[in-house]
Amino acid sequence: MKTDAILIKNFTLQQLEDWVESVGERRFRARQLYRHLYVRRIRSWDECSDLSKSFQAQLEFGTVLDALSLEEKRTSSDGTVKYLFGLSDGRRIESVLIPDPPRYTLCLSSQVGCALSCRFCLTGTVGFQRNLSAAEIVDQVCRVQQEAGNRFRISNLVFMGMGEPLANYEAVSNAVHILCDPNGMAFSHRRITVSTAGLVPQMERLGRDSPVNLAVSLHAPEDGLRSELMPVNRTYSLGDLLNACRRYPLAPRKRITFEYLLLDGVNDQPRHAKALVKLLHGVKAKVNLIPFNSYPGSEFRRPSEERILAFQEILTGAQLTALVRQSRGFEIGAACGQLAALGKDDPSSRGETEAGHGFFSLPG
Ligand code: SF4
Repeated sequence: MKTDAILIKNFTLQQLEDWVESVGERRFRARQLYRHLYVRRIRSWDECSDLSKSFQAQLEFGTVLDALSLEEKRTSSDGTVKYLFGLSDGRRIESVLIPDPPRYTLCLSSQVGCALSCRFCLTGTVGFQRNLSAAEIVDQVCRVQQEAGNRFRISNLVFMGMGEPLANYEAVSNAVHILCDPNGMAFSHRRITVSTAGLVPQMERLGRDSPVNLAVSLHAPEDGLRSELMPVNRTYSLGDLLNACRRYPLAPRKRITFEYLLLDGVNDQPRHAKALVKLLHGVKAKVNLIPFNSYPGSEFRRPSEERILAFQEILTGAQLTALVRQSRGFEIGAACGQLAALGKDDPSSRGETEAGHGFFSLPG
């Protein structure tokens, strides 16, 4: 990494306009740079013949083009692809591509590790290492799309990889801004989902700032159980969380997705399903039921199919939309709750993995 060099993918368009002006160029150059970075996906500044040689040299020595290096790529038999990326400080993160043509969803990481310590997620037990920069988030999309070439276009983005996205609010918000800029990748906000374990103040801020989809990791319908599973519930109780959901500004026909991980004998009983119906009363909600992927060393197990269906029936019987989401990419450690920034040669990647926020299920 060049010392003092700028990670150019950290800049929103306006920030880039300010920067090009500060180095003596005209503001419109920023739009050209955005096109080179995000539409042409250049690998080197000398590919940009519409820029002067002196500006190319300035960019070459003063900026860093790639915030990530691709260290490994593993494809599951169901087509799910896990990308292991190296960061400039030697740390690693993962992104997961879930192909479901014509939809290609990329699950993004927002932090290295996580401070929230959810009991079913080993990322939480490893703890928080650091936030990702906007450039490191945006580059996950750029690098996967670069790899894909013209074979397909990433259509949907979900912030459900490693980390709690709303605990890294500024970088995630800037990344969304950059990803949606019409001069660049031009993602629609409607195709981006931000997931949270329930950071209420940041949820309210997100609702004001950005019309992205919201997913809430719920996993329990009662405070006692949820606090046991997710310590964040001791700070923001279910009452606070559901009130924030009721206030959340949603476009017509939009709903909040509630992720509910089904853990055998823990939160999968009919009484939990009934409590969930009551809890979500009056909320524009849909529920994704995600049977837990058990792994060696895990204290939790996947419920039986009968138990899963019985739980679902109670929700649908109460007119709640509830889908059972089957995990994909299990054998490469890319399934829900298995995200790990570990290479294939690491013994941990064969089971005793760190999990990501990663209870990703495709937004409906
Ligand atoms: S489930 Fe999400 S919020 Fe909870 S510890 Fe894991 S990464 Fe953090």
